[in-house]
Amino acid sequence: MHDKLKLPAARRARLPKDAEPQVIIEWAVERFGRQRMVATSAFGMDGCAMLDMLSRRVEQLDVIYVDTDFLFDETYALRDRLAARYPNLNFMRGHGGVSPEEQAAKHGEKLWESNPDLCCQIRKVDALATMMNDVDVWFTSIRRTQSLTRAHTETVAWDWKYELTKICPLAKWTKEQVWAYVQANDVPFNPLHLQQYPSIGCTHCTRAVPGAEVTTESRAGRWQSSEKTECGLHGDGI
Ligand code: SF4
Repeated sequence: MHDKLKLPAARRARLPKDAEPQVIIEWAVERFGRQRMVATSAFGMDGCAMLDMLSRRVEQLDVIYVDTDFLFDETYALRDRLAARYPNLNFMRGHGGVSPEEQAAKHGEKLWESNPDLCCQIRKVDALATMMNDVDVWFTSIRRTQSLTRAHTETVAWDWKYELTKICPLAKWTKEQVWAYVQANDVPFNPLHLQQYPSIGCTHCTRAVPGAEVTTESRAGRWQSSEKTECGLHGDGI
């Protein structure tokens, strides 16, 4: 008999079209709960909202974050606040294994300026890849309205890069909806979002966006000196 036919009815339930994030998470935990599930987060506002939702539904969950060595102090502090707030989430540090000094010695100073794709490959993409080997299901908080490259984000899809099921519960939400959820549920978030930083990554590659409000949908402050818009963790390219 095909495995699918042996599943209990609740685990065979179809995911409703246009389901809200909490419903998607409920469905996914029911459907994939016996497999190795993880969430990843860079501690943006979207990720914080998703982690709050996940913490309400799971007993334990590993949350992988990539430490590039270049995160803002506010981001490291937020990680600690989230860990204290959600004790059932186990925050796991991913690292590429190359120190900033080793990177500079091999590739030159300020690789983020001379070759940001290579810098992201070393410090982000390689770091995450080593953590995803035994993962079956990946929760991530990317949304369609974040950027053109994310406009076609599917709620549930097979990810060929890591060969696992990728779930994006917040795919259909806007920044306004995320902010409303964060406020309504007192979710910890990065205070830099209130200081004109709509998207927050490494210190070397993130700038404030003048005039940006906390609900501004923009990645304009990232990699301002290049055409780059993605670090390479999502999609095939960097
Ligand atoms: S965001 Fe910038 S500093 Fe961070 S890994 Fe990518 S290129 Fe390097």
